Amino acid sequence: MRPSEDTYRHKGLRKKLVDTIRDKGITNEKVLDAINRVPRHYFLESAFDEKAYEDRAFPIGEGQTISQPYTVAYQTQLLELEPFHKVLEIGTGSAYQAVVLAEMGVQVFTIERQKKLYEINKEFAFLKKYITIKFFYGDGYEGLPTYGPFDRVIITAAAPEIPPKLIQQLKPGGMMVIPVGAGNVQQMMRITKLSSGALKEEVFEDFSFVPMLGGKRS
Ligand code: SAH
Repeated sequence: MRPSEDTYRHKGLRKKLVDTIRDKGITNEKVLDAINRVPRHYFLESAFDEKAYEDRAFPIGEGQTISQPYTVAYQTQLLELEPFHKVLEIGTGSAYQAVVLAEMGVQVFTIERQKKLYEINKEFAFLKKYITIKFFYGDGYEGLPTYGPFDRVIITAAAPEIPPKLIQQLKPGGMMVIPVGAGNVQQMMRITKLSSGALKEEVFEDFSFVPMLGGKRS
């Protein structure tokens, strides 16, 4: 069962979580506000009710995880979002990151390759109010050519390399935030597509994500 009540206790725990993330170096107050508005415990089984406000990743079934709040904030900050941006997310998972993006005022297109996780989100009542999020079941390596090009692309699984089709679907001036690396540790990278079409690459901290796999899983 999922919890569906956001009590004062939850709100208090969430404020502490935001302070923790700020102390770890997140400076964008809009990102911190978005984290503060999203009841993360809704995305986990009620057994994790309070643990939801620890700065940790958790299992969500099918061997997948809900990303650590610090990681969600870190990627969101690197995206340098502006209102109404079109954002493509690869790896919907629990949909927590997608909701944080929606709270930043952007339009979200999110793809999940595991049918079961996609179906769970279709049944998740809390998500219904987020009309700016569109959910897709598919292979993120392909992106969404018919919905692109996108202002921003965020990949929330470990990519062995930068997926070329996703670069194609970036607008000129667009940015992709992606953890790159085939081993246990990935480097967070930001790729900016310059107006000339050339790519600028920046490397940030190390993180550890579940792998980005090819193809769909039914
Ligand atoms: N953004 C999620 C993090 C989920 S973990 C959250 O906030 O909870 C990464 C997710 O990426 C997993 O659900 C996994 O199934 C998915 N994934 C891995 N490879 C993928 C691909 N090629 N296309 C779409 N989703 C993929």
